[in-house]
Amino acid sequence: MLFHAFLIKYAEIAIKGKNRYLFEDALVKQIRQALSRVEGEFAVQKEQGRIYVFCPESYDYEETLDALRHVFGIVGICPVRIFEDRGLEETARDVVGYMESCHPDFSGTFKVYTRRARKTYPVPSMEVSAQIGGHILEAFPRARVDVHEPELTISVEIREKIYVYSQTIRGAGGMPVGTNGKATLLLSGGIDSPVAGYMIAKRGVQIEAVYFHAPPYTSERAKQKVVDLARLVARYSGPIRLYVVNFTDIQLYIYDQCPHDELTILMRRYMMRIAEYFAKKDKSLGLITGESIGQVASQTMHSLAATDEVCTLPVYRPVIGFDKQEIVEIARQIQTFDTSIQPYEDCCTIFVAKHPVTKPNLKVIRRSEGKLSEKIEELVKTAQETAEVLEIE
Ligand code: ATP
Ligand code: MG
Repeated sequence: MLFHAFLIKYAEIAIKGKNRYLFEDALVKQIRQALSRVEGEFAVQKEQGRIYVFCPESYDYEETLDALRHVFGIVGICPVRIFEDRGLEETARDVVGYMESCHPDFSGTFKVYTRRARKTYPVPSMEVSAQIGGHILEAFPRARVDVHEPELTISVEIREKIYVYSQTIRGAGGMPVGTNGKATLLLSGGIDSPVAGYMIAKRGVQIEAVYFHAPPYTSERAKQKVVDLARLVARYSGPIRLYVVNFTDIQLYIYDQCPHDELTILMRRYMMRIAEYFAKKDKSLGLITGESIGQVASQTMHSLAATDEVCTLPVYRPVIGFDKQEIVEIARQIQTFDTSIQPYEDCCTIFVAKHPVTKPNLKVIRRSEGKLSEKIEELVKTAQETAEVLEIE
């Protein structure tokens, strides 16, 4: 086994005072959760302003790294090799051995950076760096020292033992989930809403989700696709509670009672209302959608205002100013794209009009909703009460 531990680098933020503890504790918790899916016992420890993941005797390096790469709040991941402290001379030899296995035939510029976490270590940091650097120069004749802009920095941390690392693998960035409350994502099977959920989770927000389906007009396969997407988002956000709401009767009723060019906007208003019901029940502080201005008729400024009107919670639309291509790029990066483009029907598209209104007039919309007064409350209540609740890991 090559690496004994990972040093977790986190930056972001003015994590000062009390916030720093909240941030670090949330990060440790998320790291533990991510690693619980990897075989082996990992120890995640907060030590002197650093977080270390100590690895078991044998573990899968790639799988571990992959799990860590999905944890928000991590900026960089440094694989660390740990040596016993057997004196500086031996340490220098250990570092050369480390170089031989991690950077064989190294021929660029480097510097050694020493940090003494153990202050009683008898040799000053600069001198440790100089001695180790000397050994490296001897073993790698084509390497040169450059303390200002080295191609490679070899970090040596003197703790109880000697920690050596030289690579930083990029982390997911953002803030650890759990540092910023909870929000409820309207998750469809499309490209945009999983990206929207990912983006808000990245800011430290815990996610739960609501999906509206319309059986038998939408299939079991369409629902499975949404479950799959929730699972992909959950790789970053941690567990997601997913409410699957049967929207069929509400849609049919609207279809029967209201002008068809208003269908989409009316359905969207009921979706928002129902999503908000679940949000409030679970103490979510906002709703999230994958809407982007002008993308479709229901996402013009007028339509967005009309859907917003029925919500009392704030509605977050993180991709609001993105072009489709920009959203697709993120979807690819977080690996939801291939699932999103599977061709299964969505409940909105089934009842959609040929020429939906793009500038809904609020007075007109409210009047249309008035035509639903006889049964809609009962239907909404039934939809809320019969929702299926899935805990997505
Ligand atoms: P997406 O790619 O996310 O499906 P879209 O471009 O298809 O978005 P719309 O169908 O207008 O756009 O939906 C806009 C937003 O409304 C979605 O991003 C999602 O947040 C929400 N939404 C739409 N349909 C559903 C559904 N069946 N269940 C839950 N939320 C939905
Ligand atoms: Mg959609």
